Amino acid sequence: AKRSGKNQALFYSPQMDIGSADLIDQQRDLRRAIGMGEFVLYYQPKVEIATGRVSGVEALVRWMHPDKGVVGPASFIPLMERFGLISDLGRIVLDLALADLKRWQGMGLSLPVSINLSPQQFRREGLAEGIIAHVEGSGIDPAVFTLEITETMAMDDDARTLNTLATLRAAGMRVSLDDFGTGYSSLSVLRDLAPEEVKIDRSFVRDIEHSRPAREMVTAMVAMGQALGMKVVAEGVESAGQVAILRNTGCDQVQGYFYSMPLPAADLVMWLDRQAPS
Ligand code: C2E
Ligand code: CA
Ligand code: CA
Ligand code: CA
Repeated sequence: AKRSGKNQALFYSPQMDIGSADLIDQQRDLRRAIGMGEFVLYYQPKVEIATGRVSGVEALVRWMHPDKGVVGPASFIPLMERFGLISDLGRIVLDLALADLKRWQGMGLSLPVSINLSPQQFRREGLAEGIIAHVEGSGIDPAVFTLEITETMAMDDDARTLNTLATLRAAGMRVSLDDFGTGYSSLSVLRDLAPEEVKIDRSFVRDIEHSRPAREMVTAMVAMGQALGMKVVAEGVESAGQVAILRNTGCDQVQGYFYSMPLPAADLVMWLDRQAPS
């Protein structure tokens, strides 16, 4: 086996060798980050459009890199999936969220939290049991959690996916279909998963002010989700004009820079205070 490995190496170009050395560095950096606890959660509020009330927050992971500063998930989650580290990240994210929830509880603040699950994490046997044991061990009510998933998770193995979701739901957690309307989340998934919530992807919301087709599609997505008994959330809302249009469609909740960027937990608490001065 060693020998064939060596032979195979002959086919690699010098560029690929540099590439793999780079990957080894990145893997080492990520493993170090996991060991050092360099990940934190930022939270973005979800706002009920009819009342302006904050209905919950979405947890979005960040890497506080000692040299690079705050690093967003788009650049490291694909690498963690590749290196088989995504389950470690999943545990870390849940731990961080549970710690923040405990702190908020101590302040008399009860806030539903949405967590993103990546496809690879979802595929693992025992995911639901692991999450439930982890949450129940912390003393936090599992019902505060909504789990955001995308289509790719459902495509692979339908029976296992549905089983996993059924187990999580039996513990009181809600399921949200993320990025709805994109290639990652489509109608068959909406039908099969019957999520409690649907999140309309930012790519549709972005154009609703200037594009009639975009507006009509969002209107139809809201109507369909609601007809199926789901809460509909529009993501990536950046302007008052978008909010006005979304309000007219009857969309339940909105999330985006117009209300707030994702914030560190301490900043979120200050933001919430400013929303409800009393
Ligand atoms: P997502 O779940 O679709 O999250 C929404 C992304 O849009 C976030 O990027 C958020 O910061 C950004 N965003 C929110 N409002 C606006 C807006 O008004 N305008 C624009 N242009 N962007 C907005 P972020 O935080 O970089 O996360 C990217 C993706 O990484 C997420 O997409 C999610 O798929 C994944 N992700 C984030 N946190 C986690 C995690 O803890 N675990 C896993 N597995 N995936 C995560
Ligand atoms: Ca999400
Ligand atoms: Ca999304
Ligand atoms: Ca997205």
